[in-house]
Amino acid sequence: MSNNGKLDFLISPEKYFPPDVKRGSLLNNEAFILAVERYLDALSESQYWPSSRIEEFQTLRLRKFTGLIEKKSQFWSQYFHRYGFYPEKAALEDLRNLPVLNRKMLLELGDKTYIRNDSMNLPTFSYYSSGTTGVSLKHFYSEREILINYGVFLFRHPALEKFSIGKLLSRKSFVVLGMPGFKHVFEKDFFYKNFPFIRSQDLDNSDLRKEIYASIRGAAPAFLVGYGSLLAKLAEWIIEDNVQLPIFAVRTTSEPISTTERETIRQITDGPVINMLSGNGVGYIGFECQNNQGCFHINSETNIMEIVNDDRVLPEDGDEGELVITSFAYTLNPVVRYAHNDVGRIFSNSCKCGRTLPLFKFHGRRGYEIVLPSGRKVRMMYLHRLHSNVLMGDARLGRLAKQFQIIQNRIDNLLLLIVPRQKISEAEEMKIRLAITELFNGEKINIEMRCVDVIPNGRGHKPSFFVPLSEFQKRKL
Ligand SMILES: [Zn+2]
Repeated sequence: MSNNGKLDFLISPEKYFPPDVKRGSLLNNEAFILAVERYLDALSESQYWPSSRIEEFQTLRLRKFTGLIEKKSQFWSQYFHRYGFYPEKAALEDLRNLPVLNRKMLLELGDKTYIRNDSMNLPTFSYYSSGTTGVSLKHFYSEREILINYGVFLFRHPALEKFSIGKLLSRKSFVVLGMPGFKHVFEKDFFYKNFPFIRSQDLDNSDLRKEIYASIRGAAPAFLVGYGSLLAKLAEWIIEDNVQLPIFAVRTTSEPISTTERETIRQITDGPVINMLSGNGVGYIGFECQNNQGCFHINSETNIMEIVNDDRVLPEDGDEGELVITSFAYTLNPVVRYAHNDVGRIFSNSCKCGRTLPLFKFHGRRGYEIVLPSGRKVRMMYLHRLHSNVLMGDARLGRLAKQFQIIQNRIDNLLLLIVPRQKISEAEEMKIRLAITELFNGEKINIEMRCVDVIPNGRGHKPSFFVPLSEFQKRKL
């Protein structure tokens, strides 16, 4: 492809995919595979473009995308004009005229934000996500649009650049534990086997493990995907059972994993352990940099990310704020300045890997915080640090327990559930209490510790290491 050809591909990828892309028709579909490979090829270059060129390109996509939804929808056309946003001459900064939308606002706006499908965008499909708030929100897509995006950005990762994605899409390669979001999109065509409802403790059952091992061998070489904690537990068992499995790559989803868990997972594959940020309704936002663990590059070719605090856009290297996303991918359910519910920051310095796509860091969900009696909040990132460095990471304490869960069940009470590996001594208990109390800066909160056999999965069958007070009250646990 010529340079102009690549640029056109990146601006209008939909022009280059076959018209009849739909779920159930993708396996071994040559036209689809060819388009995916060409798109990935163009992306492997654009990730090194100078930022001025990426911004120029984003401006073109922004104008095209907002122009299209302005034309198709009375709601969006009025919305843009009310806030002085004019698609045909829009600059990237003009996006800031528009309000930041959150889940609650989208729920209030209701169906009018969806755009009527046309023949290009058939068939459509929708699903509901519950989110951390428990209120379900409808996501409405053209199958074609979502498949073009998932089919490509799921594989947009440095560690996968040297592999043939075409081969991967010619057979059922995925073995999946839990129910990550891409199940809605890829299950029919590419899942060899899914174990949707298993919990960590189910893996103690050797028959189930045999079934999983057989699936991995059947899918060989398998792309293993699943909730972080499930994969970490499975990896422990694979090592314990001393089996060799043809695992080509591992991708953890839905929850952060500790360094110890990551190291365990690394031992079961010669291939990459892949970490990406994706969001309900937004798709793949960014991928972890291999030279900069814990930092992610934005998929700027399809998203614009801003960091916003109290309606103010924060500069690069500034304070932490909420991740706000505008996506160019979905014209039926437009994502225009959507507050994605993650907290983080963008860095301005260039990355040592040479990629020019901006680098960002994020920490879990807003609302996932311990509320102290004074009203002060202990944010998710501190809880993560506690979890990965002290509870699971610290060599001594990490050995004590298979799993921890912290539940805030009253404003002045935390319940700590532990699935122990061995009896916990008083000195060790003190150490755990101290590590948690340190977060409270002198405020008084009671910590109740309880050893249990099993920690039940939370909403959406996902295991969670922390249950905030709001969720505890809502679910009447
Ligand atoms: Zn990098």
